[in-house]
This record gives sequence, C-alpha cells and structure tokens, in this order.
Amino acid sequence: MKKPGEHAIVIGASMSGLLAARVLSDFYTIVTVLERDTFPDADAPRKGVPQGRHTHGLLARGSVILEEFFPGYSSEVVAQSGGLAGDVANDVIWIGHNVRLANGASDLIGLLASRPVLEGHLRRRLMSLPNVRVIENCAVRGLATDPAHRSVTGVRTYAQGKIEETLNAELVVDATGRGSSSAAWLEELGYQPPAREKVEIDISYMTRTYRRRSTDLHGKHGIVVAGSAPNWRNGVMLAQESDSWIVSAGGYLGDDAPDNDEGFLAYLATLPTMEIHDVVARAEPLTDYRRYRYVSNLRLRYEKLARFPENYLVFGDAICSFNPVYGQGMTVAAEEALALQRCLRTGSNDLARRFFGAAAKIVDIPWDIAVGNDLRHPRVKGARPLMLRFINWYIGKLHLAAKRDSTLATAFLEVVNLMMPPSSLLSPAVAWRVWQGNRRPVLPVPSPAIEAARRNSASS
Ligand SMILES: Cc1cc2nc3c(=O)[nH]c(=O)nc-3n(C[C@H](O)[C@H](O)[C@H](O)COP(=O)(O)OP(=O)(O)OC[C@H]3O[C@@H](n4cnc5c(N)ncnc54)[C@H](O)[C@@H]3O)c2cc1C
Repeated sequence: MKKPGEHAIVIGASMSGLLAARVLSDFYTIVTVLERDTFPDADAPRKGVPQGRHTHGLLARGSVILEEFFPGYSSEVVAQSGGLAGDVANDVIWIGHNVRLANGASDLIGLLASRPVLEGHLRRRLMSLPNVRVIENCAVRGLATDPAHRSVTGVRTYAQGKIEETLNAELVVDATGRGSSSAAWLEELGYQPPAREKVEIDISYMTRTYRRRSTDLHGKHGIVVAGSAPNWRNGVMLAQESDSWIVSAGGYLGDDAPDNDEGFLAYLATLPTMEIHDVVARAEPLTDYRRYRYVSNLRLRYEKLARFPENYLVFGDAICSFNPVYGQGMTVAAEEALALQRCLRTGSNDLARRFFGAAAKIVDIPWDIAVGNDLRHPRVKGARPLMLRFINWYIGKLHLAAKRDSTLATAFLEVVNLMMPPSSLLSPAVAWRVWQGNRRPVLPVPSPAIEAARRNSASS
C-alpha cells in the first residue's frame, strides 16, 4: 500500500498519543512523539498527567484493543509490575442507584494498575518499534502551515536550552489532553474554533493509597460506587501493584471529601456500603491525600466544523473528557486509535472529516452514559428530554433486578465496559429479566448513613 507520508508527528506522549503513534507507525516511515515532560525513571506520576495520582482502571474493551495493538501487554503489566487482570463482573463490586449488582462470571477482563504503570508499559512497547522516536522535554508552541494556512506542515517546538525550531511532517496529531491548544491555534490561523459542550459537575477526587491485605474485601479486586440520591457521593477502591489499594472519593458540586483521616473516614461512611470505610480504617496509608478537581464533562465538536486544515487531527481527551467515575477515557482513546487505523487503510484523503466523524460516533456512547447519569443529579444543569428520563428510570429498575440476577448485571457491565451498545439493554431478553426482577420487591443496599441523609432531606 502507498504510504500517506514519510513523517507523522504526535503531540503528547500520554495514553492517547502513544496509541495514535502505534497506529501511525504502520502507515508512515517515521513517527515522532513530542512530550513536554521528562519521563520519570520509574513508573511514577509526572507533571503533565496530574490525574496519574488518582484511581484508574482499564475497562474490558480498552484491554482488548490494547492487546490487539501490543500483544501480551496485559500479561506484561501483571508479570513485570504486579498489576491485576480480572473479571470485571465477578472480581469487582459495583454499586449504582444504591444497589449492589450480583457478581457472576463473565468474559469481561479488565486491567488494574496505577496510571503511571499502564502508561509506562505502553510507552516502552511503543519505543521498541524501529520507526518510532519519542522526544521528551519538548513542548509544542504552535503549528507550522503553508502560506494560505490551508494545510498544517509541521509544529513549532521549544526544548529547554534550545531556540524554537520547526519540525515538518505530513500529518500532525494533537494528543495533548483536555488542556489542548488546538481551538486557539485554529483561531490564530483564521478558522472557527469548535463548539464546546459542557456539563458542569464540579466533582473532586480525594485520593490516597493504602497497603492491601489478601483478606481485604474477601479477595475482590475492587469496588465502584457511582453516586446516587440522596447524597450522590462516589467512592472507588481498586487493587493495584505493590499490594496496594488506591481509594478515591468525592461528591457532586463541591461536596468534597476532607483530606484528613477523621474526615475522610466519616465521608466514606456515608457511601451506601461500609466496605471501603472498613478497609481504609484498618489499612496502613502509603501516600498523602491528593485532590483532583474535575469541573465538567467537556466535548469539542470538531466533526461539525465546515473548515479544517489538512494534515491535522485532534485525539483523545483533547476531543472529549468525561466524568472520571466511569473510567472511560483510556478506552475511548483506544477506540479512536482503531478508527484512525480504519481511516488510514483507505488513504489519507479527507482524513480529518472522516476521522472526526468516526470519533464522534465513538464518543457519543460514553458521553451519553456519563452525562446521562450525571443528569440524574437534580442540581446538575442540562436538558433532560423525556427519553433520557425514561432511560434513567429503566436503568434504576435494571439495577434493582440485577441485585439478584448476575446475567442482567453482566449485560449492564458489558455496556459500561463499552463492549456492547446501550441499545442492547432494551432487547426483549434483557427487558424481560428487568420486568421479572421487579415483580418481587428488591430493597436497595441498607445503609444507616443513607437512611439518615434521607430523613434529614425529608425534614428540611
Ligand atoms: C481523576 C481521573 C481519573 C480517571 N480515571 C480513569 C480510569 O479509571 N479509566 C480510564 O480509562 N480513564 C480515566 N481517566 C481519563 C484518562 O486519564 C484519560 O482519558 C487518558 O489519560 C487519556 O488522556 P490523553 O492521553 O488524551 O491526555 P493526557 O493524559 O491529559 O495527556 C496529555 C499529554 O500531552 C502532554 N502535553 C500537553 N501539552 C503539550 C505540549 N504543548 N507539547 C508537548 N506535550 C504536551 C502532557 O504532558 C501529557 O503527557 C481519568 C481521568 C481523571 C482526571
């Protein structure tokens, strides 16, 4: 096949940039990844990826795709760094709508390890490819274009101690994350910036890491609590390397968890399960508390722009970032990498329009899952059409039935893990199980804290 070009540049060497570069390495003679940070010697958090200190897990769909691009990736993370691969439906406890889903065996295999470990393994695998070079400590300041600004011809970089230089390429991909400058760069070149969709949730993750004992959580790998009425507090505890737990908690609209032992434990006690609280109360802390404020779900509609320069793409969180509670970002980046591969297989003509169209279809689903669920919170601002209200009502009923029905729980987790489309939950077989499961009353998780909060809100 004719190569679309000699040289491709990816800006940003985080999960999205590494995945984009992996795809481009099959189509371009040389791929250069430019990263502003210096890489740490060990797989440790770094400045450009502040979320790296917070709870991350790779969903089943993300694991499948990473394995396609880098065969043996998961087993390397497990064998070399002590990550855990496991059955998402059986090894992890899921609580949503204040209901604990029944565990049951499935073929949804996810991967647990700290974010720096997940990224470090990916980076080393990418760097072992003969036609890929990754340059650290190199910040991109802007785009180089042809005189009419119709086509991007490279990037202007700045590396410490050097003067600004221009690197030329036949394709430039912006994978610089949520803080991407693409919209501003486009405006400077005389293009319209993309429309921005925002759903404000103002959640902050308070995170700390603890020593994990084999008896904790009866050997399960983790627990995910997605916030629900009345207090809407989220909590996540996931096993990771070095026999540790990473624990994050936080509520909507500024309802933050405190960064001291007494306050953090009291906050965990208000979740609809005491399991995270009970592990944390006994566990040895391994790090300090860390906070990450996440103000809004944010989507940039590049696919709707009438004009866009040639030879330029935007990728990963730079297109869309979602409420992290749903753990979707890395899997969406992996899906976009597959989409880029499909686009390039049919050549590089009209690449931006084709890629942004495909990426928008990928983003639609996790966006609807994240935002649709966030809009259950009465004070989160956004339109709630009848269909959304029906879906949220139905998902509530599904949870009640899935408390005793692990087949139903797995059907739900297949959607959450981006293995199946949300429409699969409306199939007759699933709808029948939901109906059956609601014929007998099912009580949500009994929790003294939830009941107290309910009584308080009723009396105020
Ligand atoms: C608190 C939190 C928890 C999360 N949990 C999960 C989870 O459990 N599962 C999951 O799948 N996702 C999760 N995510 C999302 C996930 O972190 C991202 O989706 C993922 O990292 C992909 O992001 P990215 O590579 O597009 O951007 P980023 O990770 O933000 O990386 C951008 C990169 O670009 C570099 N850069 C920026 N500007 C420049 C420049 N001018 N020149 C050169 N380099 C530059 C940065 O240094 C950085 O390396 C979470 C996010 C948050 C905030």
